[in-house]
Amino acid sequence: MLVDSHAHLEDDKYSNDRAKVIENAGLAGLKYIINIGTDIEGNKISLKLAAEYDNIYCTLGLHPNYCSEVDEMSYDFINKNAANRKVVGIGETGLDYFRNTCSKEDQQKVFKRLISIAKEQCLPLVIHSRDASQDTIRIIKEENGQEAGGVLHCFTGDRMLLEEFLKLGFYIAVGGAVTYPNAAALRETIKDIPLSRLLLETDCPYLAPQSKRGQRNEPAFIKETAEKAAEIKGVTFETVSKWSFLNSVYLFKLGIKQRGTIVYEINNSLYINLTNRCSNHCSFCARNESTLVKGHNLAIDREPSAEEILKAAGDVSKYKEVVFCGFGEPTIRLSVLKEIAAKLKLKGSKVRIDTNGQGNLIHGRNILPELKGLVDAVSVSLNASNSDDYQRICFSQFKEAAYTGVKEFLKEAKKYIPEVTASVVTVPGIDVEACRKIAEEELKVSFRIRQFGRVG
Ligand code: SF4
Repeated sequence: MLVDSHAHLEDDKYSNDRAKVIENAGLAGLKYIINIGTDIEGNKISLKLAAEYDNIYCTLGLHPNYCSEVDEMSYDFINKNAANRKVVGIGETGLDYFRNTCSKEDQQKVFKRLISIAKEQCLPLVIHSRDASQDTIRIIKEENGQEAGGVLHCFTGDRMLLEEFLKLGFYIAVGGAVTYPNAAALRETIKDIPLSRLLLETDCPYLAPQSKRGQRNEPAFIKETAEKAAEIKGVTFETVSKWSFLNSVYLFKLGIKQRGTIVYEINNSLYINLTNRCSNHCSFCARNESTLVKGHNLAIDREPSAEEILKAAGDVSKYKEVVFCGFGEPTIRLSVLKEIAAKLKLKGSKVRIDTNGQGNLIHGRNILPELKGLVDAVSVSLNASNSDDYQRICFSQFKEAAYTGVKEFLKEAKKYIPEVTASVVTVPGIDVEACRKIAEEELKVSFRIRQFGRVG
């Protein structure tokens, strides 16, 4: 199954045969198409297409090439329509210093506003960056765009951009350009995109793959791109299809018919399901098996706001503690986490975070001072006694920096959080006693063993 994660079916080039093009996509094995908005008129057509076709979702955006047309009404339109169930992202947004049809200042202003809307609406970003790598990364970091997450669309082979976006937890989308004979450098960098971060796209009607080059592109042509990506990565077509499909489903929350629960109770504790995103892909993660934990469906179709969480939590005084956990890494959504924790503390609740300990790597700063007074206990998954074992079972986006980062997080946490525990899952091959030694003797924190295969 395939997903075209970036199409522009609203384009006039489909005026005469749009229905046929959408039918062709289904026949070619595409399960979903995400139609990407670039201006208000295009966003309106996108919304219509998403309403008309079950397999089409859409994003709402303001492309950097059309920034001069943007006014407050444009932002109002996006904000108003973002709650639509078929809207799965904010973008296309970003910077384009190649065409420069708008001033850099205007582009940056619109980009910042859309990052802020994505965070408020809890939707991922679809980023366009052309000849503007440094400013794109700088603005995402300054505006904490990693809290929304998203995808770098139409990856062109810029290695710095790739590394930075991977570190920020973003997905990378590759399109038809990968099939072009003169794209050897692009193909080389694609080898470094982990399968767990890869998306496929057409960017149709542009960038048709090599066998259709010069023609109008369409979602059905994505198969050629998938085949080339598989060849470059030295895996089968099925493997690339499976990963890119699951990545799209996770990122854009596609096809979720029933919204998962955002708060749930286990053993007199209330758990908060802030996000399904994570900087790890642990081999033992419950998410690999099912969306259910102790009978609670945790697959959320949209990340909840602080207000939604607090409303769903209701009277928290009856719980012995409130735990940020869920089906992903809660510190990715740091500002929402802090907002909720502050309100819970005012109500006298005990607050705990279950984390993979990569919060400082995710945000590129020490976040622990910000948690002082808001969090009473933190449980950090240490998971291994050395970096190689850690990466073998956790597949962190931070690679070899992850394990050291987790240990540093544990050490630093003691300064700001009263109860600090390192945990380990009894995955076969992991030296649990060596982990205990590291926790208790080196890091001087409590230690807890979690049984492999037991969830919740
Ligand atoms: S850190 Fe937790 S949520 Fe993330 S992949 Fe590992 S087990 Fe799953």
